[in-house]
Amino acid sequence: MSAAWDTDVLVVGAGLAGLHVAALLAGRGHAVSVVDKRTDLGRAVRTTGIFVRRTLDDFALPEDRLGPPIRRVALYPPSLRRPVVLDSDRDEFRVGDMPGLYAAFTDRAREAGARVLLGTRYAGYADGAAQLVGSDGAPSVAHARFVVGADGARSRVARDLHLDRNERLLVGAEEVFASAGTEVPAFHCVLHPRLAPGYLGWVVDDGEHVHLGTAGYGSRYPDGVWRAMRDLAAVAPGLPSRPDAVERRGGPIPVGGLLRRISSPRGLLVGDAAGAVSPLTAGGLDPCLRLSEHAADALDDALTSGDAGALRSYDGAALRRRFRGRVAMRRAMGLVRSPGAMEATFAALRTPPGQRAARSIFFADRSFPLPAPV
Ligand SMILES: Cc1cc2nc3c(=O)[nH]c(=O)nc-3n(C[C@H](O)[C@H](O)[C@H](O)COP(=O)(O)OP(=O)(O)OC[C@H]3O[C@@H](n4cnc5c(N)ncnc54)[C@H](O)[C@@H]3O)c2cc1C
Repeated sequence: MSAAWDTDVLVVGAGLAGLHVAALLAGRGHAVSVVDKRTDLGRAVRTTGIFVRRTLDDFALPEDRLGPPIRRVALYPPSLRRPVVLDSDRDEFRVGDMPGLYAAFTDRAREAGARVLLGTRYAGYADGAAQLVGSDGAPSVAHARFVVGADGARSRVARDLHLDRNERLLVGAEEVFASAGTEVPAFHCVLHPRLAPGYLGWVVDDGEHVHLGTAGYGSRYPDGVWRAMRDLAAVAPGLPSRPDAVERRGGPIPVGGLLRRISSPRGLLVGDAAGAVSPLTAGGLDPCLRLSEHAADALDDALTSGDAGALRSYDGAALRRRFRGRVAMRRAMGLVRSPGAMEATFAALRTPPGQRAARSIFFADRSFPLPAPV
């Protein structure tokens, strides 16, 4: 027989989106449980962990879990010749120590009163009861007033709650290793239709760690994403020699924009599960934190009032309109399929208006759009 327990809110997924919404709701006095199938959140990390200035300004991330600031972006065409170098007079990016940040967010959620159950897989939902399976195979049932799908780009909760699901996905892969130190911490981006079809390859060296990665449309990598990584490593600018042992990371990145239907009377979606990733930059860390705050407000209203209808205010369709420009630019980026066309794009990037446009994307003051407070 399965053990059964009750909670106000069951959060499925202990990434930053799930842990943040759990801490906020538990801090307001609600009974919150978070489950994640991983037994150790510091392993099998699925992000580079680049945080942009707006996130660093607006969220209290632990200083000792952030790498040195980066102010330089260098954009390389397929020939790797004549990069467009953008320098900012402000600290623009910092790379997070992701295992350390997951641990800090877990501590915050627990300190706020949430239960965090690792090694616990969500296996389905019906009539207010979530089926869970422990890492030892032991089943249990959680009766939850609301379920939060924070279970990533291929969300099972989205399917079970009959909500929208991500259809446009990039696939990303990277290697991480210790830096030998660098004079100028930099984010080198290679725009190459074969090595990173539809997106970009990167070398980020902040003086502490090096991240070498590629992301693009999976079906367009001629020999798969890890083969493209090897090819990129052979030519990548700014790449020091790699040790034999590196940490490997990878995963899907939703880039179709925020999904329209992200809530129902049973619960809602946050983070990648909701498609909360910038379609243009493929950054999801800022959006997942911001959207989790909006989700916590909606759930708090619903729990406090006893009216599940309060979740209607959590409406992806309304927010999605503000993404139109970025979705259109992502589509345009995806259309550049030959090295020649990419070189031509670089001719435009080298002009003053092209550089202004690039700066506004990489050093943006804008962040993930949320409804204005009423
Ligand atoms: C290679 C790569 C590099 C990236 N780099 C950056 C970057 O530098 N900056 C940036 O802003 N964004 C980046 N992104 C995107 C960003 O990492 C994500 O948008 C963000 O981490 C999403 O957080 P999340 O909490 O929604 O999901 P996740 O961090 O994916 O968390 C989902 C959690 O749900 C759990 N889970 C899933 N299914 C179940 C289940 N059935 N039962 C229990 N648990 C379950 C998983 O184990 C996981 O812990 C990158 C993505 C990739 C793939």
